[in-house]
Amino acid sequence: MSIKSISRATDFVHSILKQKIHNGDIVVDATMGNGHDIFFLYQQVGNDGIVYGFDIQHESLKNTLQLFKKNNVEVNLTNLNFILDGHENMNKYIDKPIDAAMFNLGYLPGGDKTIVTKPRTTIKALSTALFLLKKGGVISLIIYYGHSGGLDEKNSLLGYINQLPHSQYTVLSCNYTNQKNNPPIVLFVEKK
Ligand code: SAM
Repeated sequence: MSIKSISRATDFVHSILKQKIHNGDIVVDATMGNGHDIFFLYQQVGNDGIVYGFDIQHESLKNTLQLFKKNNVEVNLTNLNFILDGHENMNKYIDKPIDAAMFNLGYLPGGDKTIVTKPRTTIKALSTALFLLKKGGVISLIIYYGHSGGLDEKNSLLGYINQLPHSQYTVLSCNYTNQKNNPPIVLFVEKK
């Protein structure tokens, strides 16, 4: 399958994840936001799969449900789990091995820019997701760090990810090297 363009981090991540996620898989969107990533995940796994999405904002949940409804997907399907809670509590909701997870960090586009993902909770969620991840499974992260507190999250997260043992994980980082204004950092972590 071809990559639409590398110019948008989300399109690039979707194009890679499309190769890794299959019908029937169990997948997680750690930050539902406006629902684009969780809807993408649902399209990949279908009704035989299981989808979990987390966000702390009612607005995110509302926007996500609207997106599914607009696309004529019944939001009460038992395989769709829209969870209004922090991803740091992921272990309370998921007790199955997962095939993939997405972390698209920062603030809700079009929403309150002061409500952002935070280093401690993001790392807690990521460590749970890594624990739940099946061998061969993948986690994608997009780090936006232009907002207040973003640099702190970026540095903490890179510190955590860079020390993951090479014997257990492959980590790939993709940077937009000729862009100004804090371009996003894209990371993939695959379990060996
Ligand atoms: N994936 C989204 C999409 O497709 O539209 C975009 C996500 S947006 C960049 C980041 C989201 O993280 C915001 O909606 C914000 O509310 C959410 N967030 C912040 N802290 C969180 C937490 N502890 N747990 C889950 N979501 C959180």
